[in-house]
Amino acid sequence: MKWMVMQQRLHCYVDCTAKPFWRRVTWAWLKNKKDRFGEVYKIERNMNKYEVLKKYFGYDSFRSGQETMIDAILEGRDALGIMPTGAGKSICYQVPALLLPGITLVISPLISLMMDQVKALNQAGVHAAFINSSLTEGQIHKALQYASQGRYQIIYVAPERLETESFLSFAQNARISMVTVDEAHCISQWGQDFRPSYLKIVQFIENLPVRPIVSAFTATATREVKEDIICVLGLRAPEVLVTGFNRENLYFEVRHVAKKDEQLLEYVTTHSSDSGIIYCATRKNVENVCAFLEDMGIDATRYHAGLTADERKRNQEDFIYDVKPVMVATNAFGMGIDKSNVRYVIHYNMPQSLENYYQEAGRAGRDGEPSECIILYSPQDVVMNQFLIENGRDSGEMNLEDRELILERDRERLKKMTYYCFTNDCLRDYILRYFSEYGSTYCGNCANCRNQFETVDVTEIARILIACVQSSRQRYGVNVILDTVHGANTAKIRGYHMDQNPCYGKLAKVKIHRLRNIMNYLLLENYLTTTNDEYITVKLTQRSRAVLEEGEKVTMKMAKEQAAGSKSGGSKGSSKGSSKAAGLADLDDQGRKLFEQLRTLRMEIAKEEKVPPYIVFSDKTLVQMCVAHPIDKESMLQVSGVGEFKYEKYGERFLKCILEEA
Ligand code: ADP
Ligand code: ZN
Repeated sequence: MKWMVMQQRLHCYVDCTAKPFWRRVTWAWLKNKKDRFGEVYKIERNMNKYEVLKKYFGYDSFRSGQETMIDAILEGRDALGIMPTGAGKSICYQVPALLLPGITLVISPLISLMMDQVKALNQAGVHAAFINSSLTEGQIHKALQYASQGRYQIIYVAPERLETESFLSFAQNARISMVTVDEAHCISQWGQDFRPSYLKIVQFIENLPVRPIVSAFTATATREVKEDIICVLGLRAPEVLVTGFNRENLYFEVRHVAKKDEQLLEYVTTHSSDSGIIYCATRKNVENVCAFLEDMGIDATRYHAGLTADERKRNQEDFIYDVKPVMVATNAFGMGIDKSNVRYVIHYNMPQSLENYYQEAGRAGRDGEPSECIILYSPQDVVMNQFLIENGRDSGEMNLEDRELILERDRERLKKMTYYCFTNDCLRDYILRYFSEYGSTYCGNCANCRNQFETVDVTEIARILIACVQSSRQRYGVNVILDTVHGANTAKIRGYHMDQNPCYGKLAKVKIHRLRNIMNYLLLENYLTTTNDEYITVKLTQRSRAVLEEGEKVTMKMAKEQAAGSKSGGSKGSSKGSSKAAGLADLDDQGRKLFEQLRTLRMEIAKEEKVPPYIVFSDKTLVQMCVAHPIDKESMLQVSGVGEFKYEKYGERFLKCILEEA
């Protein structure tokens, strides 16, 4: 039984023979022609890039940046695209791949990524395959045989494959127009996901009979990684494109809550028709949160490294195929998940760094639709992350000095992440600044921009906090300082003799969460600083002296109590113009009803085709159908995301559904 399923899947992944009869005949004929290179690959050359985009992907226009990359490649130049998740990197090499005369080899690090891409391409009518260790030797042999016959325009391979004899001999005799390196940051030792076999790519390219165009794509933007990619891959005068990291459709929020489960449940139940990911810091949390949601009647599933490979696979598929809309997971989940209709990403625990956060949050809204990214913050998250940093990393063969350096870097990252949870300025701006990009200080689409703030003078409290640090000779951490000024009567405080400190109990009347907010603000603005050692202590800075000795005033923005947590408001400044296509939220009752019907139909088709629903059509495309109400083939093809091939396959079923509803 299992074997049969495998067979079916392989049919869909590898042997893309879903061709009309005449096409098969043409292939057979071409196969026998001597001049294989000359003829077989010419098929799409009479199309231009816009026609390819429309026919196969169903889109009317390129997004910013895509065209620059495509033009460079079609001129025969190397190219490097650094674009955030969801920007549409795949189109940048898939469109040229369909226009270039030979094969495009895409080197990709993960099997799941390759499968997903190939499935999507096959659904769009593109002949693509992957060759990796999920196939048997026999299947690989067959796939390479088809590849040599020119059956595939795009072939995905893992970097390790480039060293095998069978693949090398195929490559020597094939016409390879382009080698595309996906997730190219894996080539850099600076990157988080360094993969040694990526270093072999350049040798493979050099040994090809004709040097192909080389293009590379990643979402990692640091300078070191960029330089490594260009240098290690040996890119020749590449067109380098770095697009902004801003993701306008993502809404950011941090909630400081004591009862996370309650908040979570409320959110998930009020978004019950949406698909979302809930990230937790530990496996134990994943288990607890998932069990809690299930007890409350939510269709949730879970993913972490402690589960068997079988269960991980099953749960992942349940999520991707929309069987279970909620995924509770550790950060082990997500790499290679292309699901485009994830409407929210909630962090049940604050992550360790903004790098992690932006990557994980970025899995929301890949289809460009409005989506929410929320952190449920509690002070214990910081403690837990500190513990994970000090004890978690497998430092392998690292020497002591390197280990200490990395620890220090991690502590610094955690600090910046914590400040994010406390800033009252635009959250998007904070993130973009962190990645060295300067946005506007008001985005209108984060909790801070939407909330009403007032500027409060906190000089008096700041002076006492700073004085406490000074009088205790800068020997203690944040918690001891806060407990001291708050007058806590604990064994720890007595043990440190802080109950005799001149500041002891001076701020007993101020709520502890407010004190913590102000302390974090002082750290954020460098009125105080902390060390990056294992035992983090608070230290004075130049600015502390200015407050204590020169009478500098400290003011900070604080959420007005009544407005806190409210998501309306946002009346300040100019909110973004809505030139965007309509979203789910814009549909009226009737529109929503139709949307649900189209969604049911999509699920039916997805099951028949054995692909995730979003590969059939994205949510965005369904919404557009609800808005545009196409009545015939012509108007259906106008809907963004409906290409000719997909129309032929199931366009009429969608049309019928829309017409019946009208
Ligand atoms: P990335 O690899 O950069 O994370 P993808 O290639 O997965 O992004 O694209 C993200 C989503 O955007 C996909 O659903 C894709 O179909 C869609 N997309 C890409 N280019 C366009 C375009 N020109 N117009 C409309 N949608 C697009
Ligand atoms: Zn903002």
